[in-house]
Amino acid sequence: MRPSAVVTHLTSEDLAQREPVLPRIARLLRPYRVQIALVLVAVVVAASLSAVGPFLTRAVFDNALFPLDGSEPDLGLLAWLVGGLCAIPVVVALIGIFQVWLTSTVGNSAMADLRGDLFEHLQKMELAFFTATKTGAIQSRLANDVAGVRTVLTDTASTILQNTVTVGAAIVSMVVLSWQLTLITLFVMPLFVLMQMRVGRVRQRLARRTQESLSDMTAITEEALSVSGILLSKAFNRGDSEVARYRGANRRQTRLQVEQAMTGRTFFAVVQTFFAITPAFLYLFSGWLITGGTPLGEDTMTAGTLVAFTTLQSRLQMPLLQLMRVTLDVQTSLALFRRIFEYLDLQPAITERPGAVALDPAQLRGRVELREVSFRYPEPRALSGSPAGDRFGDSGIRIGDDTDRPETSGWALEEVSLVVEPGQLAAIVGPSGSGKTTATYLVPRFYDVTEGAVLIDGHDVRDLTLSSLADAVGMVTQEPYLFHGTIRDNIAYARPDATAEQIEQAARDANIHDRIMGFPEGYETITGERGYRLSGGEKQRLAIARVLLKDPAILILDEATSALDNETERLVQEALERATRSRTTIAIAHRLSTIQSADVIFGLEDGRIVEQGTHHQLIAAGGLYKRLYDEQFSREPHGRPQCDSRRADVSL
Ligand code: ATP
Repeated sequence: MRPSAVVTHLTSEDLAQREPVLPRIARLLRPYRVQIALVLVAVVVAASLSAVGPFLTRAVFDNALFPLDGSEPDLGLLAWLVGGLCAIPVVVALIGIFQVWLTSTVGNSAMADLRGDLFEHLQKMELAFFTATKTGAIQSRLANDVAGVRTVLTDTASTILQNTVTVGAAIVSMVVLSWQLTLITLFVMPLFVLMQMRVGRVRQRLARRTQESLSDMTAITEEALSVSGILLSKAFNRGDSEVARYRGANRRQTRLQVEQAMTGRTFFAVVQTFFAITPAFLYLFSGWLITGGTPLGEDTMTAGTLVAFTTLQSRLQMPLLQLMRVTLDVQTSLALFRRIFEYLDLQPAITERPGAVALDPAQLRGRVELREVSFRYPEPRALSGSPAGDRFGDSGIRIGDDTDRPETSGWALEEVSLVVEPGQLAAIVGPSGSGKTTATYLVPRFYDVTEGAVLIDGHDVRDLTLSSLADAVGMVTQEPYLFHGTIRDNIAYARPDATAEQIEQAARDANIHDRIMGFPEGYETITGERGYRLSGGEKQRLAIARVLLKDPAILILDEATSALDNETERLVQEALERATRSRTTIAIAHRLSTIQSADVIFGLEDGRIVEQGTHHQLIAAGGLYKRLYDEQFSREPHGRPQCDSRRADVSL
């Protein structure tokens, strides 16, 4: 019995819950502490200045216009007071401009940092994460979720600060003016706070659902409006159903947005009404206070105090309401932060060991060995969010054994051992799904073996630095990926510092130079997204040029299955021969003719090596290879094994 190594996973939510969100946000803002301190000073100065205003108003009434001692109005004092009343708003406004500039710089920079960190982190994630996660869902977290926390990082923080100080200063001033009236104004506040907390929780839940639905929509857009998606829907005439799917998600999004906008509206209306009618009650209480008719005792209430107090009270309304609204925004943003941190907490499964060895390119011989390798694909599991595929695979966190798993199921490779000596051309053959691609993916560590080891020149690939391993291994995949850019950029991707001559030489060796020169713009021709503007044979040769420019010691070749005309096939074949010369090559060949000269051929069936040898040895052995060979010949009338687009049974 082989012990099963695939095990229970910690969910990323477990991880996210390990560290509270707020300290993490604080850490995000740490590089900007000087600017934040300046904002704080600006806010305190502006709020304190604003709080002085009502005292000047009181003095206007009680000392300048209608002096309490019954003397004549003091116009000189009035001029000073009016001057002060005019200067304060101007200074406060100037401070406000400075503060908005500071907060917006801090907020946007912090957001850019977050987006950059997230991108960098995702870049480190293993292939399994991307095979199990919808591209749109990843894009949505990078774009929508990060954009969603923008307000909290720019406006919200300063709004909270500003309003807290304003409210604090106003309350202190109100207490100084009349503690009794202050008590009456504020007695319902605890109730408001409780209501606000409840609304906040609902809003947080809604925010999470809204982002999930937004992520679904981005995923649908990405799927349906990408070149492959459009091709698929046009070919199968599914345009209408794609539109219906999008409209459905769109309606859900609208419902959620409206629900989110309406949550807490009644609450805000109650608060607003309360503030609107409070002055009336204050006049009434003042009357009682002046006449000593309340249990709060008598007060020396003056007209100036009352005017100043009601001014303050009405000024309290805006900041308080804003504070409540903003706290709701914060709660909404916390939900988004959690979604972002959830991605940031995913541990990449393929990492570099401390003290990893760098392969020296000068010393590299290129011996590849798979030693008793068994492999099963990691189980994808659900992330919080979209049940419709916002999923990812093995996070690399392994804590214990999953012994309940049936022992035989799910192994893509079982106890595979093979050796490819330096400079050899090795071929892997076998029926479709037998694990050929999987075996080659283990060499550059696209996945890590579940058991056993992959060795390059005797080093376990897990002991090598990721970058030296990546430099040592080159790949030409079945469907070469070309990004939207010029042909030159696409080839130079392998070596950005390559000279024009080196790029052209690689293109010549790949038999594509003449074709490129035939395009009106030559090397500057735009390939179109994923190379859709090029033919299959052209794309393959461009991919070969790219790998020739990289010049790796080990080349992995997953030959394309699509049919090429004879001339193109000859060109590709020649290019491949040049590419495989003088380096270790592992080829998954779909044309038998291409591997007859291979130094060694491995026959793979159901994830196990069932035979190995040269073409002649394997034909003589009469096993899997012979069977595949005969099948291919029997279909080819001229007796020459041909390209095979029906790889189900003759995938070679
Ligand atoms: P083909 O010739 O059709 O390309 P192959 O021999 O290269 O086939 P692999 O692609 O290596 O076969 O697949 C081997 C097995 O692993 C198959 O059963 C396949 O369904 C499974 N498999 C491949 N990729 C994944 C993945 N990302 N997650 C889970 N299972 C996978």
